[in-house]
Amino acid sequence: MEQRVVGVLGAGQLGRMFVEAAARLNVQVRLLDVGDTAPAKQINYLPGPDGKSQHIDGSFADPEKIRELASQVDVLTIEIEHVDATQLQKVLDDKLVDAVHPLPSTIALIQDKYLQKVHLAAKGLPLAEYLAVGPEDMSKATDASQARAAQIEAVSEIGKVFGFPLMLKSRTQAYDGKGNYVVKSADQAAEAVAALGDGKRGLYAEKWAPFEREVAVMVVRSATGEVRAYPAVETVHKNSICHTVFAPLRTADPGVEARARQIAEQAVATFGGAGVFGVEMFLMPNGELLINEIAPRPHNSGHYTIEAADTSQYENHVRAILGLPLGSTALKVPSAAMINILGLADLDKDPEAVAKTLVPGVVSLDVPGTTCHLYGKTGCRKGRKMGHITIVGQSDAEVRSRLRVVEEGLDRATQ
Ligand code: ATP
Ligand code: MG
Ligand code: MG
Repeated sequence: MEQRVVGVLGAGQLGRMFVEAAARLNVQVRLLDVGDTAPAKQINYLPGPDGKSQHIDGSFADPEKIRELASQVDVLTIEIEHVDATQLQKVLDDKLVDAVHPLPSTIALIQDKYLQKVHLAAKGLPLAEYLAVGPEDMSKATDASQARAAQIEAVSEIGKVFGFPLMLKSRTQAYDGKGNYVVKSADQAAEAVAALGDGKRGLYAEKWAPFEREVAVMVVRSATGEVRAYPAVETVHKNSICHTVFAPLRTADPGVEARARQIAEQAVATFGGAGVFGVEMFLMPNGELLINEIAPRPHNSGHYTIEAADTSQYENHVRAILGLPLGSTALKVPSAAMINILGLADLDKDPEAVAKTLVPGVVSLDVPGTTCHLYGKTGCRKGRKMGHITIVGQSDAEVRSRLRVVEEGLDRATQ
């Protein structure tokens, strides 16, 4: 059916699930990431005429490697936003590929969380209040100690406006809360700035959002700009890492779920290029929804769609970037949940780290309605995403009781 070859920057777990979906549609995927055993490469055998793998060994931030991949594929996409967006624009301009999805300009905008906020605010979307911290453009700040001093001063000043605690955030390279610092008082300004790059990285601050819950909505966008939201879900974070997801979102006010979808669709409609986007939101005690951040790719909060939606986020990403008809985003089960399998310890400190970490996965094999996904990561670190389990059921109560069995396995492993 499909002759075009897709290139993906990044070959982690999101790439792995993208490859699974692409394989079912017989779409060939070439991957760029470091090493031959990255999670997505493990399940995508691609020997060339010489018998060697045609995947590329290198960083998705390396301009030369991006060019090499681009010269071998028809359409490029990403599984992570921390790529070289300038080079993506160049390979598009040089016509090495037919398309890059989402657009390099979208990736560049979103990968700087401060510019992302400026963009969303200009479009009238609801956000927690935010302010730049110190120099606007760190690439022009030649003196790191001066930049650091300016950032510390700015945090103290912003504290007078937002109050404390406030959330200090790195503008770029953030994931799993690495890049966030909760500043509880002006006295902590210096340690917060030091922790987040010490005058070498751009920062911004957000007013603390005392949210009632966190909500996420996956949205698929076609190249022609059609947007389709998946149901809103509740996400529960522990130590700033997504831990569990419940689909669909249930609130006393049933209007919240529809409003979350509407805001997510409006936000994604403002970005250029096709593909799936993840919109993270805070549900405030007064019922207001504020956008936290947007990911320009499939997202952890959308893993559940593999088992619980008519079309998974990964298949819809394949369809969107190739201009195929988008699939239905409706739930096909009454209720679903997802729990991440996070590394319980560092492998070099605890030889049992992997075995302990995978206990909930093993337990889940005996629980009806569950599907265990292991990512094939060889190294285990505390908090690292090693796999996830999806649970579906006929009711929220059934899903919760199945989840409880898996969580008991996790409790036993952590004792
Ligand atoms: P991701 O892995 O989702 O990309 P990230 O490193 O980009 O994460 P954020 O999504 O900005 O980080 O924040 C991580 C978590 O920190 C949020 O899910 C939320 O729990 C908390 N958080 C972020 N911003 C605020 C805020 N302004 N007020 C209160 N809590 C916040
Ligand atoms: Mg993020
Ligand atoms: Mg986030």
